[in-house]
Amino acid sequence: MKRAVVMGGSYAGLFAARVLSDHAEDVVVVEPDAIGPDGLGRLTPQRHQLHALLSMGHTQLERWFPGITDDLVKGGALLGEGEDVRFYLDGRLKAPVPGARMLGATRPFLEGHLRRRVEGLGNVRSVRARATGLVFRGDRVAGVTTEAPGGGAGETFDADLAVDAMGRNSPLEDWLVRHGWDRAPVDGMRIDLGYATALFRRGDELGGTVVAHSSPGPASGYLPTVTEPGALTAVEGDRWSVVLAGYAGHRPGPDPEEFLRRMRRCVDPLRTVADASPMIGGVRTYRFVESRRRVHTRLDRFPGGLVVVGDALASVNPVYGQGLTLAALASNALGAHLRAAPSPHVPARDYFRLAEAVVDGAWELSTAADLAQPHVTGPYPRGYRVRKWVADRLTEASVLDSAVNARYMGVVNMELPPKALTDVRFLARAARVLIDG
Ligand SMILES: Cc1cc2nc3c(=O)[nH]c(=O)nc-3n(C[C@H](O)[C@H](O)[C@H](O)COP(=O)(O)OP(=O)(O)OC[C@H]3O[C@@H](n4cnc5c(N)ncnc54)[C@H](O)[C@@H]3O)c2cc1C
Repeated sequence: MKRAVVMGGSYAGLFAARVLSDHAEDVVVVEPDAIGPDGLGRLTPQRHQLHALLSMGHTQLERWFPGITDDLVKGGALLGEGEDVRFYLDGRLKAPVPGARMLGATRPFLEGHLRRRVEGLGNVRSVRARATGLVFRGDRVAGVTTEAPGGGAGETFDADLAVDAMGRNSPLEDWLVRHGWDRAPVDGMRIDLGYATALFRRGDELGGTVVAHSSPGPASGYLPTVTEPGALTAVEGDRWSVVLAGYAGHRPGPDPEEFLRRMRRCVDPLRTVADASPMIGGVRTYRFVESRRRVHTRLDRFPGGLVVVGDALASVNPVYGQGLTLAALASNALGAHLRAAPSPHVPARDYFRLAEAVVDGAWELSTAADLAQPHVTGPYPRGYRVRKWVADRLTEASVLDSAVNARYMGVVNMELPPKALTDVRFLARAARVLIDG
């Protein structure tokens, strides 16, 4: 390709730019936000919230940016292994998973490293502008129009491929409709989630702990009755990033005193940090009303020369930490699609099939877990009650047994598809674990 234009220069856009740099002479990343050296911008407030990177996301990061883990660790990020990574369910520490690894870093720090790497590629350039529409030539996209951040005149970029990485509220669908195309069908699930994140000074109060994550499970009916749901990660700058989450009437607020009181109703590591470590700055809240995915494979018509990645494709309940990994995997799918040298004149159906297969797994997992929340009212898949009963038993067995938990976490970490949990031998082992207690 001569030129690919990526609309949106956040995590998914940067990943896509990296993949495209292998296939296009010139890659232009159009991003209106002034993202500072601290990695924080104005337009994506979720950057302030605790971000965990699933192990599949970490593998993809290292695959496309070799050596980035070492760079992150040199800069102060932490790599937790074995017992440094702790998951709790209904207040009980889950069986350890041999070989478990998790990175502790804030989202801006991680994204900042990604941005520097991408901007260092010889054929990628960032343009501070807002994408305002598409230029069509027949049934294909042939360019992207932009305006300056303040609203002034911008450039029009010719493009062999345009990539929508404009996030959850991407205007792409409106642009398509304006040109006579249909909106992609949307699957949604209303979850009414509240998030609150605060940073704390980190000393040696928790030894080598890098991640502690606690959620309610079957024993409490998935309600915060035994402990409050929350998580912490050790991050760069000798800090803890701590998040509290709650649904509907139990959403955490911005009051620091309330945040500390709630942390003291969490599992041990969060209680210890609340008592031992000073909070830095205030509490940032975020409300996430609905998980949502756009399903382009259900469209009869779609223009050539256009793909959608990241949250613009699927934006799921952040509690399961899938977003960054989905963004990376969509870029993988894009790489696989482009290796077949597709014509820009035909819709990128292969890409959407590959990307949506990945989203299917994440969506199945996150929405099944969300349906266990009493306030979530559907839509329920066929056979939901039986599936939930089995999932609850597997979850209970994963607390007790390392082998069961290893596979369970393999699915959570998106290394294995959800169907890995239906293997007969695995189910038999889980049953034995529960019978033996
Ligand atoms: C509270 C919360 C917590 C989360 N926690 C996790 C977690 O622990 N782990 C995880 O993996 N994921 C997590 N996520 C999900 C993760 O934040 C998203 O999946 C990720 O930000 C998606 O990246 P993106 O690049 O697709 O979209 P975004 O990060 O939203 O970026 C979209 C970009 O597009 C730009 N843009 C918008 N309009 C235009 C335009 N017209 N032209 C050009 N550019 C435009 C914006 O400025 C922005 O930079 C969380 C999300 C939330 C809300």
